[in-house]
Amino acid sequence: MGSNEQKGSLQKAARWHPPAYDVRVEMIPIPSIVHPDDAIVKVKYTAVCGSDLHIYRGHGTTVNAHTMGHEFIGEIITLGESFRSDAVGRPALYSTLQVGDKVVSPFTTNCGECYICRLGYTGRCTTGLLFGCDALDGGQAQYVRVPKAGSTLFSLSKPTWNSTLSGSERAKALAGLNDSSLLLLADILPTGVFAAIQATSHPKVLPMINGLPWPYALNPDQASDLEMQVLTPEDRLLVFAIVGLGPVGICAAVSLLDVLARRQLPYRIVAIDPLEARREKMKAVYDKIGSDGKGQGEFAVASIDEAKALVQTLTGGVGCTAVLEIVGNNSAISLAYDLVRAFGAIVSVGVHGEPSVPFTGRQLYNKNVSFDFGRCPARAMFPPAFDLLVKRQDVFGGVGEPTSLIDRIISLDDAPEAYKQFDKGEWGKVILDPWKQ
Ligand SMILES: [Zn+2]
Ligand SMILES: [Zn+2]
Repeated sequence: MGSNEQKGSLQKAARWHPPAYDVRVEMIPIPSIVHPDDAIVKVKYTAVCGSDLHIYRGHGTTVNAHTMGHEFIGEIITLGESFRSDAVGRPALYSTLQVGDKVVSPFTTNCGECYICRLGYTGRCTTGLLFGCDALDGGQAQYVRVPKAGSTLFSLSKPTWNSTLSGSERAKALAGLNDSSLLLLADILPTGVFAAIQATSHPKVLPMINGLPWPYALNPDQASDLEMQVLTPEDRLLVFAIVGLGPVGICAAVSLLDVLARRQLPYRIVAIDPLEARREKMKAVYDKIGSDGKGQGEFAVASIDEAKALVQTLTGGVGCTAVLEIVGNNSAISLAYDLVRAFGAIVSVGVHGEPSVPFTGRQLYNKNVSFDFGRCPARAMFPPAFDLLVKRQDVFGGVGEPTSLIDRIISLDDAPEAYKQFDKGEWGKVILDPWKQ
């Protein structure tokens, strides 16, 4: 199935070369189908991500030259032989995806069929691969090969996922959303939603959510013990800190506010970053969010120095219910430990590259801290992320505005400059257009 018209031709790609700080735009062969489950996608837009910088700086595990990038949106141009109308019992897209369909990909492949995928933990598929490393060429190119495409890709032409939106709302949303906005689904928005959902559904947060002390909060239906004291409104106040206000941190903040607003939970949030420009963007985003997305609470933006004192004051010295750590280094995770209360939860979604975490077992024991570390299962998070994307177009819709997560859209030819500027912190998140001259 599909066309082979591009076979043997060359395409433009942004390629990383070892050992570090060397991205070149080169002409390489257009990929072709190597496994029946593959699809070839013609890339419309591809974004540079904070985690691309780990590879750029030579801190990743990759050693060989490869095409960069794990965030892309585009159109199917070729499908492997597994894609046919009678692909019964396999993930839905094997029987419905067609050449010409618009798709967005999560940053890793996932088979959708192994035990881990079936549990919804798609980011750790037993055969999953990260795009943009030497095991799998990435999407910062004109074309990209997608393995296990029938469960990895999302079709934006024929949506099949669950949504809180009605069919007509969803169709209208798909017709009206910019591709630059939909590209946020590839990584940063699902990762932000993942951090927020983990923090608000953690067992240690349940006493505040349910108004019942531990362990009754775990089984509210069975909580009829006479010894049990119902918590006061003050007891139930949720206090969250968000460490790191890059694009993912902002997505996490918007998602957290949305969860708290929908569930009408009272809260305080302290959003923390050492860089003033990031703090200003966070403030602008918060101001822009409509009242439907904020609920009943207080939201403060703080530098690292201000944050500790603020959390002390807000909580009478107790600490935060949960901390969302979005950076991925030891100073960020140390700050999270300092801010969290006893029996608190730290949710960490930053890519940690350092050899060990900065805690002793004694420190963890002494605070009864829970950690949720690791990569977002982006494919599984797609439905709630899509709904939030549609709902919060006031924040996620634009490019280059004070509230936008995307700074600019430039030609793929300028990828080497984009990496240099992004690495220095001079530019924010950049979209590369592989077809723009
Ligand atoms: Zn990314
Ligand atoms: Zn799998």
